[in-house]
Amino acid sequence: MKNIFNTQFFNLQFKNPKLVTRNSQHALKTVPDPLIYIFLFAFGAITGSFLNVCIYRIPLKKSIIFPPSSCPKCEKRIPFYDNIPIISYILLHGRCRYCNARIPLNYLIIEVVTALVAVSLFIVFGLTLEALVYYILLSALIVITLIDLEHKIIPDVISLPGIAVGFAVSFFLPVPGVKNSLIGMVAGGGVLFVVAYGYHMITGREGMGGGDIKLLAMIGAFLGWRGILVTLFVGSFVGAIIGGVFMILKGRDTKYAIPFGPFLSLGATIYLFIGEDIIEFYTLHLWLR
Ligand SMILES: [Zn+2]
Repeated sequence: MKNIFNTQFFNLQFKNPKLVTRNSQHALKTVPDPLIYIFLFAFGAITGSFLNVCIYRIPLKKSIIFPPSSCPKCEKRIPFYDNIPIISYILLHGRCRYCNARIPLNYLIIEVVTALVAVSLFIVFGLTLEALVYYILLSALIVITLIDLEHKIIPDVISLPGIAVGFAVSFFLPVPGVKNSLIGMVAGGGVLFVVAYGYHMITGREGMGGGDIKLLAMIGAFLGWRGILVTLFVGSFVGAIIGGVFMILKGRDTKYAIPFGPFLSLGATIYLFIGEDIIEFYTLHLWLR
């Protein structure tokens, strides 16, 4: 298991010097035990279970701590042995033990995705402060994505503290660093504000929501201005493709039905893992021209 670190795959990951500090590479090479993967997967699944609570309760303006989870249909309290991430869903065949109501598949998917996020961040960044910070960012983006898809809103209770946290942790991380974080925050919020304002001036209609503006400011605070660049580029590109497909399938009026938050979140995630490679690829090709 240990020599997995020497494979081509992992070497490729380390080609990202802007995000991977010497410290995190060192941390990865000295990891003693493959058990760490199991531990991190479980830790991620537990986080995912909590994210599910946030996704369900934040739009309803309910507390995310009290009361403990209960079935939305029969309202019976879910006992701890039925609340084990991933495992309980499989054992109960995705149904409530008491009333047999379906538990949405989303719950399982989010637990698995969050677990994979925890493991992936460890593989790329090691057991480092960066990995922890990016874990917080990606967890917030998972919650934002699901809420935006379902309710077409991006809650301020996530994005505003997110901006503050992203800026605060930049004092402790070499990348993006305080100045870059500040630029990313202002540029991220600013660029979408200008787009939204311009769209409103020209068409007289509401285009982009304020939620998207605050979301991109948050992403900028965490990832700096280069992160904003790739996030907008990838987000708009994928958003345009998916939006186009939806318009063809369902008619033109679906334009406002497609939220932008999930695409910005996707763009930020892609920057986190391979963004500097994308920038390198493009600058290289521009130079060659
Ligand atoms: Zn039930």
